[in-house]
Amino acid sequence: MPGPAFLTRLLGDHWPRRLRSRPAAAVVVAALCLAALGAVAGSARRQTDEMRRRAQHIAELERMKREFLLLASHELRGPLAVARGYAAMLREGSLGQPPASFRRPLGIMDDKLAEMGSLVDDMLETARLETGRLDLTRSDVDLRDVVETAVAHVRPGVSPRHQLEMELPGRPVVVRGDTERLRRIAVNLLDNAVKYSPDGGAVCCAVGVHDHHAEIRVQDHGIGIAADAQPRMFQRFGRILTPQTSGIPGTGLGLYLCRELARAHGGDITLESREGEGSTFTLTLPLGGAATPN
Ligand code: ADP
Repeated sequence: MPGPAFLTRLLGDHWPRRLRSRPAAAVVVAALCLAALGAVAGSARRQTDEMRRRAQHIAELERMKREFLLLASHELRGPLAVARGYAAMLREGSLGQPPASFRRPLGIMDDKLAEMGSLVDDMLETARLETGRLDLTRSDVDLRDVVETAVAHVRPGVSPRHQLEMELPGRPVVVRGDTERLRRIAVNLLDNAVKYSPDGGAVCCAVGVHDHHAEIRVQDHGIGIAADAQPRMFQRFGRILTPQTSGIPGTGLGLYLCRELARAHGGDITLESREGEGSTFTLTLPLGGAATPN
């Protein structure tokens, strides 16, 4: 038990003068103070332990959520592929000619299954990203091929109000990358360009080299995005809801995935946009392979 001399050393002039001449009382006061300090320290330690336990619990829940997302989206792909296969067979008449009244519902079913398919693909890719299981299969890729296949993929769904244009240089623009993932980025940017130009107009997809970087530029003349909403678009589930976009289907995962995939390739996606005038998304990638400036 500390005596008054110890308290004098510890507290100097800060403990009451009256106690200095009463050692027993000083010892009692000191004991009480130490007990109080001990109780405070004990409670702080308990609170820290509780906070650590909660943080571990939240981290574990997050991990389980990511694993569930990965498993669920992976398992959904099989049955969905079967449903899409049967829907296509019904529509094409391979299972017998469907009555004319089935044509519209079958078309809607096909569209909705396709929508579900791309949602499941986005969920699966997000889960792979967040569990660190995004394995890129890299090879030398000419971005002109990427854009050509992406445009061919998007074209059938484009309305006659839109003009889908390509600007490709005469020489290859080669990067080291995952062809499937790069095509996915281009398809996503093109899909968005069409989707967010409800009045139609030209959508142009260009390949080029700028500042020693390869790039794919997708430009539209659609609704554009207000400057203050732009940073949110690249966040997970970052849908920008305005009266113009509320009727347009989407999940808000597309641009998040595009940017993460671009960054996994050592590149990025940037945006220039003016509300009501249109947007230009630019995917930049490090030049690789036998790239030559155009
Ligand atoms: P979504 O599935 O909602 O299309 P994205 O992640 O692809 O999700 O895009 C996020 C949001 O960014 C969209 O909800 C939309 O508001 C906005 N956006 C994306 N592309 C464009 C574009 N070309 N023009 C205008 N707004 C766009």
